[in-house]
Amino acid sequence: MKIGIDLGTTNSLAACYRNGKVEIIRNRLGKKITPSIVSIDENDHVLVGETAKEYGILHPERTAAVFKRAMGTSKSFDVGEHSFSAEELSSFVLRSLKEDAEEYLGEKVEEAIISVPAYFNDKQRKATVKAGELAALKVSRIINEPTASAIAYGVGEKGKSERCLVFDLGGGTFDVTVLEYYRNIMEVYAIAGDNFLGGEDFTRILFEMFMERSGLDQEAISFRDLKFILKAAEQCKCSFSESDVAVINVTIGTKKYTESFQLSEYELRCKELLERLRKPIEKALNDARISLNDLDEILLTGGGTRLSIVKDYVRRNCGMEPVSLADPEETVAIGAALQCAMKDRDAQIEEVILTDVCPFTLGTEVIRDNGSFEIPGVYLPIIERNTVIPVSRKQIVYTAKDDQRYVNVKILQGESRIAANNLFLGELTVEVPPGPKGKEAIEVTYTYDIDALLEAEVKVLSTGVTRKVVIHDEEREESESEKASRLKRLEYLKFNPREDEENMLVMLRADRVYEESLSEDRKEIEELVETLQNALNDKNILMIEITKKKLTELLDELETGKNDHFVA
Ligand code: AMP
Repeated sequence: MKIGIDLGTTNSLAACYRNGKVEIIRNRLGKKITPSIVSIDENDHVLVGETAKEYGILHPERTAAVFKRAMGTSKSFDVGEHSFSAEELSSFVLRSLKEDAEEYLGEKVEEAIISVPAYFNDKQRKATVKAGELAALKVSRIINEPTASAIAYGVGEKGKSERCLVFDLGGGTFDVTVLEYYRNIMEVYAIAGDNFLGGEDFTRILFEMFMERSGLDQEAISFRDLKFILKAAEQCKCSFSESDVAVINVTIGTKKYTESFQLSEYELRCKELLERLRKPIEKALNDARISLNDLDEILLTGGGTRLSIVKDYVRRNCGMEPVSLADPEETVAIGAALQCAMKDRDAQIEEVILTDVCPFTLGTEVIRDNGSFEIPGVYLPIIERNTVIPVSRKQIVYTAKDDQRYVNVKILQGESRIAANNLFLGELTVEVPPGPKGKEAIEVTYTYDIDALLEAEVKVLSTGVTRKVVIHDEEREESESEKASRLKRLEYLKFNPREDEENMLVMLRADRVYEESLSEDRKEIEELVETLQNALNDKNILMIEITKKKLTELLDELETGKNDHFVA
């Protein structure tokens, strides 16, 4: 069985296509969403999702989150005594999703289509494939999140051609994609984005507003209290969906702080963040060579677009009513699952062929002669960014000096006008017959294939001499033995048994709410925790269920703020 996975910065989820429809797979806690959070407890047990999130509140040093941003980099995350790369942490999330899917479907899951932000470069994509491999999943395709959203929304379903802009504001990343659907082909026209802008930045603004108003000093309070406040700020931000006034209510030490915020003042403080949304939209439209008027639809996806000030900003600046996808958290996984069905050539579903673009410009270095003087080190783009791949482009360059014997062609990647500021990928040197400057013409051909492999060829037109090189704009592949030793390194870790997860989560939650509460509430929690612990020790199923229900109700009551001492 093959599943579609949305491996998000904040949350992840999996979906599958069965009996002619998409189903979101429920995890071991019966929930659709698994937070992309990993903890390693004192017994080397790996906790993933809701349980890790709960555990992380009291044990932040044993917990890692928001690691997707570091995919494909050498950054390592310290989790307790251990240290992991972003792809290793992602593999734990994938493994958890895979196990849940197997339980849910009652069959083995060996393959997956995983989504990534459209702006992810080749390294980040390869790291995602590796994370899949570490979780024993064959990643049969990486799909761009906005493309998945467009498929889930049903762009092209009516059979007519459609141009749309997908505006995806997730927890930590922002992507804009211009797509066109035409005769069963979903073509990505252009992508642009900001890998360091997301819903969390909007939470941060509320956090800062709260800190200013409450007079609390960030330096003077503990890391844990800061996390409490951030959590309260996020809840406050989300409650703007229902009301124009939202409240942050926290107890730090024994002092209670309550601050309320107007949506209008919040919007004003977010002005700079909102303005940062504009540039990628303009860039993507510009690269796609279309204007806002040419768009049939603007699709909003990603949890961050639930914020009304974001939606209003898009409406005002694009002069069009954007379509909010019904469940922004689910659309990407749904699109990935539909892509699984298309790949399996499911009879009930028509295949949409996806095309991709190269995210960076590829070019070479030349000397520009403007008639009166020469400018060295100039960048000559050959394949412009956002060109649909596969693609092959040619450029003719000429000898720069009299009696030049060799021509050296540097293969560069980047957007700077100055060649030296771009990334050097390789070079080719060919011999040319001596003669006056500008006599010999050299044809430079770049071919970029669907797997992002670049082939460069130079040909001296007068002699026909040709040189060729294939550039894997990627470090060397991990060998089989390296893969095996990496798997071995992770072997000592034990994954928490699925069936214990619910009990563990309620106990962790009780620990946290206990710390956040005072006097009578603490006693009540303590009594129920002890009863539950005894029932668990005695394996008294009936007692476990009854006590767990009671404890959950009490925690819910305390957490919904009915109680005065509760920390929001
Ligand atoms: P995603 O990565 O797409 O799951 O998006 C996660 C982001 O969406 C987080 O920053 C959340 O705070 C944000 N988010 C989720 N629900 C809401 C809401 N109702 N209002 C505002 N932001 C939200």
